[in-house]
Amino acid sequence: MGAGADTEVLVVGAGPTGLLLAGELALAGVRTEVVEGRLEAHRESRALNLHPRSMELMDARGLAGRFLAAGRPVPGWQFTASLRRRLDFTALDTRHPYALLIAQSRTEALLTERAGELGVRIHRGYEAVALRQRGDGVAVDVRGPGGPVTVRARYLVGCDGGRSFVRQAAGIGFPGTEESMTAVVGDFAVADHADNDRARRHGVLVARLEAGLTRFVVMDPRRIRVPSTEPVTLEEFRTSLERVCGTDCAIDEPRWLSRFGNATRLAESYRRGRVLLAGDAAHIHFPVGAQGLNTGLQDAMNLGWKLAAHVRGRAPATLLDTYHTERHAVGRAVTTGTRAQTLLVELPLTERYGRPAGVLCELFDTLLGMPEVNRHLADRISGLDIGYPPPATSRADPLTGRRMPDISLTTVAAGPTRAYELLHDGHFVLLHLVRADALRDRTAAAPERTGPMRTVTACPQGARPDLDGVREILIRPDGYIAWASRTADLTVRRAERARALSTWVAAPQA
Ligand SMILES: Cc1cc2nc3c(=O)[nH]c(=O)nc-3n(C[C@H](O)[C@H](O)[C@H](O)COP(=O)(O)OP(=O)(O)OC[C@H]3O[C@@H](n4cnc5c(N)ncnc54)[C@H](O)[C@@H]3O)c2cc1C
Repeated sequence: MGAGADTEVLVVGAGPTGLLLAGELALAGVRTEVVEGRLEAHRESRALNLHPRSMELMDARGLAGRFLAAGRPVPGWQFTASLRRRLDFTALDTRHPYALLIAQSRTEALLTERAGELGVRIHRGYEAVALRQRGDGVAVDVRGPGGPVTVRARYLVGCDGGRSFVRQAAGIGFPGTEESMTAVVGDFAVADHADNDRARRHGVLVARLEAGLTRFVVMDPRRIRVPSTEPVTLEEFRTSLERVCGTDCAIDEPRWLSRFGNATRLAESYRRGRVLLAGDAAHIHFPVGAQGLNTGLQDAMNLGWKLAAHVRGRAPATLLDTYHTERHAVGRAVTTGTRAQTLLVELPLTERYGRPAGVLCELFDTLLGMPEVNRHLADRISGLDIGYPPPATSRADPLTGRRMPDISLTTVAAGPTRAYELLHDGHFVLLHLVRADALRDRTAAAPERTGPMRTVTACPQGARPDLDGVREILIRPDGYIAWASRTADLTVRRAERARALSTWVAAPQA
C-alpha cells in the first residue's frame, strides 16, 4: 500500500461483511480497497452456517454453487440450544430450503476469491488508527508492514467487527445491554464420539466441522456468570461437559477455545456523513439462532449497490439514507429477537426458575412441532421474512418491498431462466410479465440494458397466486421488489414506473 493512496471507497475489515461489500462495490465499477488488521486470514470459525436468505443472495450473484460445493446442507437449525426440536427449513418458500453447514473461514475464503476476481485489493496487516471526515471525503491513517499510510477515500465503511474502531472514531453511539451470561466454545481434534448424541440431548451444541474436527458449545450453569474476558482451559471445558451431560466426550487437542457473552448492542446510526457501518460493527448479540454473520451479509448486499450509485453520481437524492432506514430496523429486530431467544437459554440454567423453566421449554418444543409456528420462526431466523415495505398509507402494490421470489421464467431472447439469474451482474431488472402466447408473438430481442438496469420480457412458469395479474416488476440488485404494477392502463403504468425509477434507479432514467 503506497503513501497517500486514493480510492473511491475504503472498507475497513476483511471479515465476511467487508469482503462481500467490497465485491459488490467492485461489481458496480467502484474502485475499492480493503484494509485488514490481521496479516493472516482467521483460521478459527465462529459462524458455522449460511441461512436460506444468505444462500439466495449468493445465488443472485451466481455464487451458490461455490458455497454448496464447500459446505453441507442440513434440513434446519436450532431456534435455541435449550429446545429438543430444531426449526425445519424444508418447507420454506425458497430454492434453498436448508441451512448450509460451512465454516466461517471457508465463507471468508470464498468471498476473498470473489472480491479478488472483481479487482478488489485487500491489504492485510494494515490497521486503521485514525480518521478525519472532510467535505468531499475521508482521510484514514493506516499502520502496516510498509509503515504508516494515509488513505483518502470518498466514502469509508467500517466492517471492523464488534469493537469497531471506525464506529468509535466517527462518534457513533453503540447503546445496548451489558454481558450477563457467557458460554464456552471449543474445536477439538476428535472424530464422532459415541457420547456426542448424549451431549446434544443435554443442550450441548455438537457439530462436525471437517474430518476429525468437532465443535462443542457448552453452557454450564455454574460457569455462565464468568466474564468473557477470562480465558478457557481444556480442564475447565472437560469439567463443564461432564457436569452438564455426564461425559467429556473424550475431547482433546483443542484447536480453538473461547468464551463469548450475550452483550447486545445496536449502533445508533448506520451512517454519519461519509462514514457507514455494516455487520458486527453495527450490531452484536448472542449467537443464538446463528444470525450474526448472516445479518452482516445482508447489510453488505443492501449497501453495496446504493453506495455504488451514490459514488457514481447516479443515485436519487435519498437512496443512500435508505440503507440506515432499512437495515437499522432489521438490526433492531435481530437484537431484540436474540435477547428473547437468549432468555429461553438462560432460564433453564438459572436455579431459581427450576421446573417452570423446563415446562416453558417443553411448551416451546410442542409449539415448534406445529407447521405454522415452525414456518413463522423459520422464516424469521432464516432471513426470508425480511422486507422493506412502504408506509402503510401508501397505495403501492402489496408486493412492494417484499423479497422477489426466484420464479422460473421463459424469456423471448434467452429461453428458460430464473429471476435470480437475471440479477447476477448486480443491475436492476425491469421485468415485463406476459402470457406464453404473447411471448410467442414478440420478435426475439436481447434483454435491453440501460445504464444500471436491464429490461426483460418473460412469461412466468408455474402458478404463484401472489403474482396473479402482475404486469411489471422492478427488482432491486439485492433481490427486493422496488415496484410492481397490475394495471392494464398503460398511461397509468408508465407514470407509476417513472416515479419508481426516479425513486430507486436514477433521475436520468426517469
Ligand atoms: C462463538 C460464536 C459463534 C458464532 N456462530 C455464528 C453462526 O453460526 N452464524 C452466524 O451467522 N453468526 C455467528 N456468529 C457471529 C459471526 O461470527 C459474526 O457476526 C461475524 O463474524 C461478523 O462478521 P463481520 O465481517 O461483520 O465482522 P468480523 O468477522 O469481526 O470481521 C471484522 C474484521 O475487521 C478487522 N479489523 C478490526 N479492526 C480493524 C482495524 N482498526 N483496521 C483494520 N482491520 C480491522 C478484524 O481483524 C476482522 O478481520 C458467531 C459468533 C461467535 C462468537
